[in-house]
Amino acid sequence: MKLSQLLIPTLREVPADAEIPSHVLMLKAGLMRKLAAGIYIYLPLGKRVLKKVEEIVREEMDREGSQEVLMSALIPAELFKETGRWDVFGPEMFKLKDRNDRDFCLGPTHEEVFTDLIRNEVKSYRQLPLILYQIQTKFRDERRPRFGVMRSREFIMKDAYSFDADWEGLDASFNKMYRAYSRIFDRCGLNYLVVEADPGAMGGRDSKEFMVISSVGEAVIAYCESCGYAANEEKAECLVEAQEEELREVEKVYTPNVRSIEELVKFLGISPDKFVKTLIYKAKGKLVAVLVRGDRDVNETKLLNVLGLREEELELADAESVEKVTGAKVGFAGPIGLKGDVLLLVDSEIPLLRNFIVGANETDYHIKNVNYSRDFKADIVADIKNVVEGDRCPRCGAPLKIARGIEVGHIFKLGTKYSEALGATYMDEEGNEKPIVMGCYGIGINRTVAAIIEQHHDEKGIIWPMSVAPYHVIIVPVNVSDEEQKRVAEDIYARLLEERVEVLIDDRDVRAGVKFNDADLIGIPIRVTVGKKVKEGIVEIKLRDKEEIEEVRVEKVVGRIKEIIEEKLRELS
Ligand code: ATP
Ligand code: MG
Repeated sequence: MKLSQLLIPTLREVPADAEIPSHVLMLKAGLMRKLAAGIYIYLPLGKRVLKKVEEIVREEMDREGSQEVLMSALIPAELFKETGRWDVFGPEMFKLKDRNDRDFCLGPTHEEVFTDLIRNEVKSYRQLPLILYQIQTKFRDERRPRFGVMRSREFIMKDAYSFDADWEGLDASFNKMYRAYSRIFDRCGLNYLVVEADPGAMGGRDSKEFMVISSVGEAVIAYCESCGYAANEEKAECLVEAQEEELREVEKVYTPNVRSIEELVKFLGISPDKFVKTLIYKAKGKLVAVLVRGDRDVNETKLLNVLGLREEELELADAESVEKVTGAKVGFAGPIGLKGDVLLLVDSEIPLLRNFIVGANETDYHIKNVNYSRDFKADIVADIKNVVEGDRCPRCGAPLKIARGIEVGHIFKLGTKYSEALGATYMDEEGNEKPIVMGCYGIGINRTVAAIIEQHHDEKGIIWPMSVAPYHVIIVPVNVSDEEQKRVAEDIYARLLEERVEVLIDDRDVRAGVKFNDADLIGIPIRVTVGKKVKEGIVEIKLRDKEEIEEVRVEKVVGRIKEIIEEKLRELS
C-alpha cells in the first residue's frame, strides 16, 4: 500500500480524555476515532490489527477442535427471561423494542443463545463434546466507559462455550481452552499472568482470568514468585498466623477527638496493626458492622459475596445510623455493646489477633486489650480483607507481590446453570436424560489490541510485535525527487508484494524526518530506508524495537526481510 493513498490521519494533539498510552496512541497513530462515549470506529490500520488478533484467535481455537459459528447480536428478551438475566444485567443491557412492541436486547454475552441452539440440536451423548465459538460484537452500557477501547460500550469478543456430558469432560474442554488462550496471548507478544478470579454474576467455578501486567490495568493481582500462585484481589488470600501473647485485662482509654487510625497511631504511639477498625455498612437497609485489622482495607467484592448481595445493595452507613447503633459520634465504633439489630461480621484474621484496640461505642473512648471470643463474638467470620504486598502466600508462605493487570481473557466452568435453566439435556448411553455440563470462555479482541500497545510502545509510538503488526515493512525513500531512490524503493516494494510481504511505501513528498517519525508512531516492525547509499547499491534496514541500522545490498534486501519476519514470528510462537 502506498502511504499517500492510505487513510492514516495521524494527530499531533490528542483529546484530553485520552489518559493512557494505548488510548493516546490509537488516536494519534490514526488507528481509530471516537464516535460517542465508549463507541469507536476503526480506520484501516486499526482494522488490520484487529484482524490479525482475530486470526490468531481463530487458528488457536480451531487447533483445539473448537468450531466457529456466528450468532446474532440482536436477541429476543424471552431467552434472557428464561434464565432471569433480563433483570440481572440491569442498566448494563441495551434493551429495545421491535415494531410490534416485542422486547429485544443487544447481546452483552451469549450463554443463552448458544444454550438455546444446543437444546434444539443436541439430543444424544454421541453428539458431545462440542466447543463452539464466535467472534462478534457485544454491547454493554458500561457505567464508566473509559480508556478508549479498554472499556467500551461496543466491543468485539471471541466467546466460546463448551458442552460436555459430565464434569470430567468439562475439565478436558477447559484445559483445551486454557492451552489455546496461553498460545493466543503468547503469540500476541503479551506478558501475562493467569489468575484465580471471582466468578461473579455469571456463576460457576474454576474461574481464571488472563491478566496482562500493566500499571494502567483496572484489576489488582496478588502473585507469588516462588510457587506461581496468582489471584485477583477479589479472590486473593494470605496466610495469617495466630499471635502468641498472654491475654491482658480489658482497659478503657480516653482518646479525645481521636477518630481515625492515623490519629490513634499518633496519640497512642502504637502501630496500626494493633488496632481493629469497625466499619458500619447498610446492606439492603440492614446494618452490618464489619471488622478488619487497622492497617487493612475491606475488599467490597469479598464482602458482597459473603453477604450474598449485589453491588447496589451495599453502602457505608450514614452518620446518623452509625451514631444510633454505636451510641457515639462517628469514629468510635467497636464490636462491644452495639445497639439494636446489627450483624457483626469479622475478617478471618481477627480471631487470631491478641490484645487489640477497638472503638468503645462511646464518644472519645477506645478499649485496649480486646480479644475475640473472650470479649465479643461475631455472627460471621470470613475473609473480607484486601491482600497487600508482603503478605504471605496462602500456598507456600513466601511474600506475595502485587501488580495491576488488564483482563484480556476469562475462562470458567459454568456447570449446569444454563443447561438446567433452559432445559438443554441429552440422553446418556443408558437412556437417562441428563443436563449438559457447560464452560464459557471469552477474549476481548479490542482490549487485547490496547493491552499489546500498553506493553509495546515508547515515547515515539507503538512497537508492534510482528504477529499483529498492520504491515510488516515500511519502505522510506528519503527523497522522492531523486529518481534512483524512487526507482529502487518502488522496485523493492514490488518484489516484496510479489513475495506476499505486507508492505507500505512512504511515497509522500515530505521531509525524511517526518516520514521516520510517522513510521515510528505507527510502529511498523521493519523500516527499509532508501537514501544516498543507493548509488553504491546499499539500503538500510532498521527494526522498530532496536537502535542499530543494518546495511544490506539491494539485491539481498527481500531475502533478509523475509528472514527477519520469520525469525520474529518464531520467537512469539
Ligand atoms: P470486566 O471485569 O473488565 O468488566 P467482564 O468480567 O465483564 O470484564 P467477561 O464478561 O468475562 O468480562 O468478558 C470477556 C472478555 O471481554 C473480558 O475478559 C474482556 O477482555 C472483554 N470485555 C469485557 N467488557 C469489555 C468492555 N466493556 N470493553 C472491552 N472489552 C471488554
Ligand atoms: Mg464487565
